Amino acid sequence: MNIPLVDIKAQYESIQDDIDSKVQEVLHSGQFILGPYVQKLEEEIAAYCNTRFAIGVASGTDALLLSLKALGVGPGDDVIIPPFTFFATGGAVHNAGARIIFCDIDEETFNIDTEKLEEKITIKTKAIIPVHLFGQCADMAPIRDLALTHNIHVIEDAAQSIGALYNGKKAGSMGDTGCISFFPTKNLGGYGDGGMVVTSQEHVAKRLSMLRVHGEEKRYYHAEIGINSRLDGLQAGIISAKLPHLEGWSEKRRQNAAKYNELFANSVVRTPVIHEKNVSIYNQYTIRLNNRDEVMQHLQSKGIACAVYYPKPLHIQECFSYLDYKPGDCPVSEKAAEEVLSLPIFPELTDGQIETVAKAVLEVAR
Ligand SMILES: *Cc1c(COP(=O)(O)O)cnc(C)c1O
Repeated sequence: MNIPLVDIKAQYESIQDDIDSKVQEVLHSGQFILGPYVQKLEEEIAAYCNTRFAIGVASGTDALLLSLKALGVGPGDDVIIPPFTFFATGGAVHNAGARIIFCDIDEETFNIDTEKLEEKITIKTKAIIPVHLFGQCADMAPIRDLALTHNIHVIEDAAQSIGALYNGKKAGSMGDTGCISFFPTKNLGGYGDGGMVVTSQEHVAKRLSMLRVHGEEKRYYHAEIGINSRLDGLQAGIISAKLPHLEGWSEKRRQNAAKYNELFANSVVRTPVIHEKNVSIYNQYTIRLNNRDEVMQHLQSKGIACAVYYPKPLHIQECFSYLDYKPGDCPVSEKAAEEVLSLPIFPELTDGQIETVAKAVLEVAR
């Protein structure tokens, strides 16, 4: 018996006719870079996320980098991020030329701790990047209040959270920009790299659409220097074909999570905490365990896939040693890194499989 962490193949086979005909359509159109399929997806994602604009880019990582550039964040500026996140959040800030300031996370939600945020803000702070980790939005109300008071930009890293709600608002629609990833294992995954920036600010949208094509204002005339970061027509067509299924898939993930919660009730397994303001899309179902490594090995020996997101917080990564953080500086993130384990939660998972996974966890969790 094998239970994978995600089953991209099963999902493809469940909508194969739609995908195959869309791929054929794009191939026959000859429109491979930006073009009508990307424009259509941009309109669909903007409508889905409740923003005025969406700009297709090459990846979620580039969505972050281009957001920083479009908002004028660069050398001399500080950007506050949580250290418990995928590497791209930090990499983008560095590559924009700004300095990373780490702010520890909340013990319950794994998202940036808004209680610790204000003390990190200085005259140099130009932006905050709250990460909506594992499918649940960060506590955006206090973040927005602080940003407004101190005149700071907010860039939502919504790479794991398309469709998630906070006080009824869509992830990505609450900051200056929201960054979405279409990496294959995200909830709305393409069959290659892809990403999008959503925003309701027209001047930001305009700048983003120039920056993704070398800063081109009109063909061969460059107002500033951008990069090459374009979404392609095949990915856009595929993602358009998948979008109508997204709400159903997210609902199925929530049902799977509820089933796990039930099976882990009254045990030593600490299940995900979703705040009452939030509706999670469960990109991950991440539990906390005192003997995580033991449980992980046990699951693996039974053919059950699981993963540690993330084993090493960014503030103690070797490449960021120049920032002079040390172990102990973000203790909540460091503790999470030792205790977290993400279990299969994908929509196609059966109740029987969920029971098998939960049983295996409970056999060794202490
Ligand atoms: C996946 C991810 C990204 C980067 O997206 P890519 O499309 O892989 O470049 C950024 N931030 C977070 C939190 C992610 O999970």
